[in-house]
Amino acid sequence: MTSSSCYTIADKLRRGASWTPYKRRRDDPQVRPLQIYAVDPASHKREGAMAIVEIPYEPLEPGPKGRALWVHDVDASGQEYAPVDLEQSKLLLNDGISPTPVSPQFRQQMVYAVASRVRRSFRLALGRQLDWGFTTGGGPEGQLELRPQGSFEENAFYDKHKGCLSFGYYKTAASVEGRYLPNGFAFTALSHDIIAHEVTHALLDGLRSNFMTPSSPDTLAFHEGFADLIAVLHHFSYEDVVLAALRHSNGQVDVDGMLTAIATYFGHTTQGDDRPLRSAIDVDEKCFLTYDDKLEIHKLGSVLVSAVFDAFTTIYNRRSEPYILLATQGAGLKPKQLLPPGLDQVLAHTASTVAEQFLNVIIRAIDYCPPVDLEFGDFLRAVITADRELVADDPWAYREAWIDAFARRKIYPKYVEALSEDALLWHPPRHPLPRLEALSFAKLQFQGDPGNFFTVEESLRQARALGDFISARQNLSSFGLMANGDPMLHGDTVEPPSIESIRVARRTGPDGQVLFSLVAEVVQRRHTHMPDGQPYEHLGGCTIIVDEFGDVRYSIYKSAGAAGRLQTGQEYLAGSMRHYWATLDDGSLSPVAELFRRLH
Ligand SMILES: [Zn+2]
Repeated sequence: MTSSSCYTIADKLRRGASWTPYKRRRDDPQVRPLQIYAVDPASHKREGAMAIVEIPYEPLEPGPKGRALWVHDVDASGQEYAPVDLEQSKLLLNDGISPTPVSPQFRQQMVYAVASRVRRSFRLALGRQLDWGFTTGGGPEGQLELRPQGSFEENAFYDKHKGCLSFGYYKTAASVEGRYLPNGFAFTALSHDIIAHEVTHALLDGLRSNFMTPSSPDTLAFHEGFADLIAVLHHFSYEDVVLAALRHSNGQVDVDGMLTAIATYFGHTTQGDDRPLRSAIDVDEKCFLTYDDKLEIHKLGSVLVSAVFDAFTTIYNRRSEPYILLATQGAGLKPKQLLPPGLDQVLAHTASTVAEQFLNVIIRAIDYCPPVDLEFGDFLRAVITADRELVADDPWAYREAWIDAFARRKIYPKYVEALSEDALLWHPPRHPLPRLEALSFAKLQFQGDPGNFFTVEESLRQARALGDFISARQNLSSFGLMANGDPMLHGDTVEPPSIESIRVARRTGPDGQVLFSLVAEVVQRRHTHMPDGQPYEHLGGCTIIVDEFGDVRYSIYKSAGAAGRLQTGQEYLAGSMRHYWATLDDGSLSPVAELFRRLH
């Protein structure tokens, strides 16, 4: 951290991007087709168990090792497995290795392909290159390291300190469900859902690194729920899987099954019954599971997942109804009726389209979330704002569906006057601020495409302009920032605000309009102590969105000086969150190192 008198610039921002994107050549292929299990090794061939997916092309070294991802196959005992070389001509002609659960090289291909695909969804939704959140570990050129047999345990996790995703393997239960061997071996690296879930943790950490601070049940549950949502929404990108599932369910997307089950493979090989690990729909006796911050973290995450899936189902039903009426001459579908010819394909296409829209909006919404201590209600506001920015008229009432689904689960945002769309939108700062000319688009130095990383020099120029602006005494309160000596701090001290990131957000709306803005994350650390005297850092922060003219469009903050937040935070820290904090040698409280290993 290098400091000026009134703000600091995070080391991460000063160092620039941790990896260098591949620059496409004119004669490069667009994509690299690779075979994967679309669900897991035991699903049926006729139901789309295997798929050929198209990964954005880049030259690969054996591993596969690309620019952003490096598959490094070392098992728990330290044995290294021969890396697959996807540039081999036979593999190029064959779309890689054919799916098999017993080949280490196929597992390497599978984790690379699924992780690349999920990463691509984030890139498309955000319209820019994505950096990782880890600052130690990782591959030799800053890649995220993927270990397909990273540990011998019933677990898979993102390890921020090692810059690594570790996929566990384990002995299957004595009694298993489906086409698995009892007392055999199972590899989490063969489960599409688990790979998608884990890489989402790493991608989310790259966007909002303080969401890994276990400050509240919501923040941790959000990481879990969001990772599950990304996995579930990807189910809808596999045409054969969607078709088979909709034929099974008579055109319903919310029937518990292939589309809604999360990590079936893991559930079937560890629990000895036919339940998946989790599901995207409420399964508790037809009663909605409602928000309660005392729920276990994954259960709480499921409340978020089921709320989003509920909104998704509403929109799918709304959009598919005209086709169903047309195909049945106005009669609608009867229970157990076979779908009329052709209707299955139209419904599958509708489900995939709506899933892609949901995937885009939940990823884009991250740019509209506060940088610390995210609550589910904040996420709803972020979704509504992100969606409204792009689609002003909303003819299918997507946003109403979101609000209703969250209300049904008693997820309410704080400090809003009503549960209406207008009330939920984030606001510009209450007092008008001068224009921040230095951050207007005319002044930005792009590296070719506006989605590319900025140079370090340009990032620093932007960070200094923003730092000077937010730390001016008259502007502090517009961003929820505190100065030492403020009576609201009750004698605690705060560090100067730290500029953590500044990124371009570029989105294309349904009418083809392109929207540009800059999204900055600012964090402020307050040195305080628990009621028993144990010291720790309480985080405040602000997400600042600046439009193309340099006007501050949104200031979305959680102030380090807010007394209510401090008190609630301390109650969590002393209670349900204590498990995720450790006491350091100097006696202070600090988040545990292997957060997700402990959480999963
Ligand atoms: Zn997780």
